[in-house]
Amino acid sequence: MPYTSIVLVKQVPDTHNIHGDVMKEDGTINRAALPAIFNPEDLNALEMALQVKERYGGTVTVLTMGPATAAEVLRDALYRGADRVILLSDRRFAGADTLATSYTLARAIEKIGAFDLIFCGRQAIDGDTAQVPPQVAEKLGIPQITYAETIVQLDANEIVVERALLLGKEIVKCTLPCLLTVVSTANTPRPPSVRKMIEYKLAATPLEYPTLLQQWREFESVEKLDAYLAARNLKIPVWTADDLPVDHARLGLNGSPTQVYKVNYVVLETTESKEIPANAEGIAALMHELVKEYIVG
Ligand SMILES: Cc1cc2nc3c(=O)[nH]c(=O)nc-3n(C[C@H](O)[C@H](O)[C@H](O)COP(=O)(O)OP(=O)(O)OC[C@H]3O[C@@H](n4cnc5c(N)ncnc54)[C@H](O)[C@@H]3O)c2cc1C
Repeated sequence: MPYTSIVLVKQVPDTHNIHGDVMKEDGTINRAALPAIFNPEDLNALEMALQVKERYGGTVTVLTMGPATAAEVLRDALYRGADRVILLSDRRFAGADTLATSYTLARAIEKIGAFDLIFCGRQAIDGDTAQVPPQVAEKLGIPQITYAETIVQLDANEIVVERALLLGKEIVKCTLPCLLTVVSTANTPRPPSVRKMIEYKLAATPLEYPTLLQQWREFESVEKLDAYLAARNLKIPVWTADDLPVDHARLGLNGSPTQVYKVNYVVLETTESKEIPANAEGIAALMHELVKEYIVG
């Protein structure tokens, strides 16, 4: 049977490549100096959703909340095989903690309509909380399976999933609809397809129209550009707070009970070092010391 899937993706600064210029003096990250990328585990979530679609049929809708630049990850999702993408963007969403983020995403999912599966990354590499997906599931009143690695079985009412835990695997089942958070070992995300890159290279949100009009002067006006893209299914919709059935007090900074008070820049410094000879005796001496210091044992 075909499944209706929604994938939650986040555009994040590439925190794997932090270098000197990227840290500000106060210890916070200078986001402008880091390239923005598709949150890595969200690519695994998208891949799992695409594999479900290929095996059973159905659709894959990708949703992100972020600034205008987040359209980049949505185009990337189209290049990889998503059927539909939606950007949630509004100044009123800004400054959201995980509570306000999950509230907004849950209301947007309700607006999308009936679904069978929601796929999320296990964790975002910038906020790093792993709180958003469980909170979304809670707000939608559906079960969740975190750390999903393999879909073992899927039928009309039920899913069986293998979870990758620190000390082993666990197989669990739950009813549909449900939410999965997907780990990086689940699959190898497919690369963007060249055919789809050609098909969707003009896909854009209305937030990008002013920039596009400077490049494509033949369109002359926003209205003509909009009509051209809409007619070809290349207009990426942007939903604002006015498009959602939301309590505005629960959005963005206003709806965020947690605030960042201070960020400390932690530098771990070595006080002493020892050189271990690369031979059996060296390794035996190292193991002896680790056991003696109760580091392993
Ligand atoms: C105390 C606190 C205060 C904060 N204050 C601010 C602030 O003032 N300004 C600010 O910009 N940020 C702020 N943040 C960051 C903001 O809360 C997070 O960026 C956001 O809520 C997502 O949380 P996360 O990055 O930990 O995602 P995680 O929960 O680690 O993400 C897991 C998965 O959830 C999904 N997901 C997460 N975020 C999104 C999204 N936006 N759209 C779609 N899917 C998503 C993805 O599938 C992702 O892989 C704050 C965070 C905390 C903890």
